[in-house]
Amino acid sequence: MTDPTATLAAVQGLDLPDLAPGTVWLVGAGPGDPGLLSLLALHGLRQADAVVYDALVDARILKLAREDAELDYAGKRGGKPSPQQPDITLRLIRLARAGKRVLRLKGGDPFVFGRGGEEALALAAAGIPFRVVPGITAGIGGLAYAGIPTTHRDTNSAVAFVTGHASDGEVPDGLDWEALARVPVLVLYMALKHLEPITRRLIEAGRAAGDPVAIVVKAATSEQRVVETTLARAAADAERLNLEPPAVIAVGPVVKLRAGLDWQGAIEGRVLDSDPLGLHSAPGAAERRS
Ligand code: SAH
Repeated sequence: MTDPTATLAAVQGLDLPDLAPGTVWLVGAGPGDPGLLSLLALHGLRQADAVVYDALVDARILKLAREDAELDYAGKRGGKPSPQQPDITLRLIRLARAGKRVLRLKGGDPFVFGRGGEEALALAAAGIPFRVVPGITAGIGGLAYAGIPTTHRDTNSAVAFVTGHASDGEVPDGLDWEALARVPVLVLYMALKHLEPITRRLIEAGRAAGDPVAIVVKAATSEQRVVETTLARAAADAERLNLEPPAVIAVGPVVKLRAGLDWQGAIEGRVLDSDPLGLHSAPGAAERRS
């Protein structure tokens, strides 16, 4: 049996910085699994007077906040429009000016398609001290929970993170589709809604229609679902299977590695392929040939 007090003592020994009154921490909560929260995020949550959190933050993570902390929801709820971004930043500024220890909790990493940069700039402009506590982003940690690495020596030395959703709700303008068609691995956020035009444009720009694609829904949660498909079939499959956000989508050869790296599947009995890229001959093949 591990001793939880020993874990706590070990964390205390780290001398983590304190969340001071009148300041804001912008904290990443990771993609789902509460175990992916950083120690610094936990330390901040235990001190915060006010926690302003987004959708996609697991309820068990919020329970780590102090019992008397003010919990303030800043995401969409039940189809109601979400609070406007200026309202959220204003709320952070007001709370900090009132002398509160404020923790702004965001899904994944606050600086990856999370508007953390905008909020930090507004805090800086208001003269409010802040700290950024990075989180594990869905496009890396969420894919890892599906057994998909974002890079692998035998497949790619570059990866592009792409959002499929601009602030006006459309496919972002100004994406260089020809360039994206050539990047070996793409990781798409917020792309389920516009998957048809996104995959079509990539194929028109020269990306292979048969390029492997994995759609990972609710990654790193108990409801995680992974659909393996191809660039040409991805949009139709997502529609047929009624896939709903949040989903992170991997495009490129790393998807094939899942046959060897689906560690969650292996826990449930999946037999992993030790050569998912087919690079090495099967053990004993050389002897059989000779
Ligand atoms: N800052 C977040 C991204 C916010 S944008 C991060 O670093 O992960 C919201 C998008 O993130 C979703 O539409 C989806 O594409 C992705 N996402 C976040 N959490 C996810 C999860 N648990 N599973 C799959 N995708 C997720």
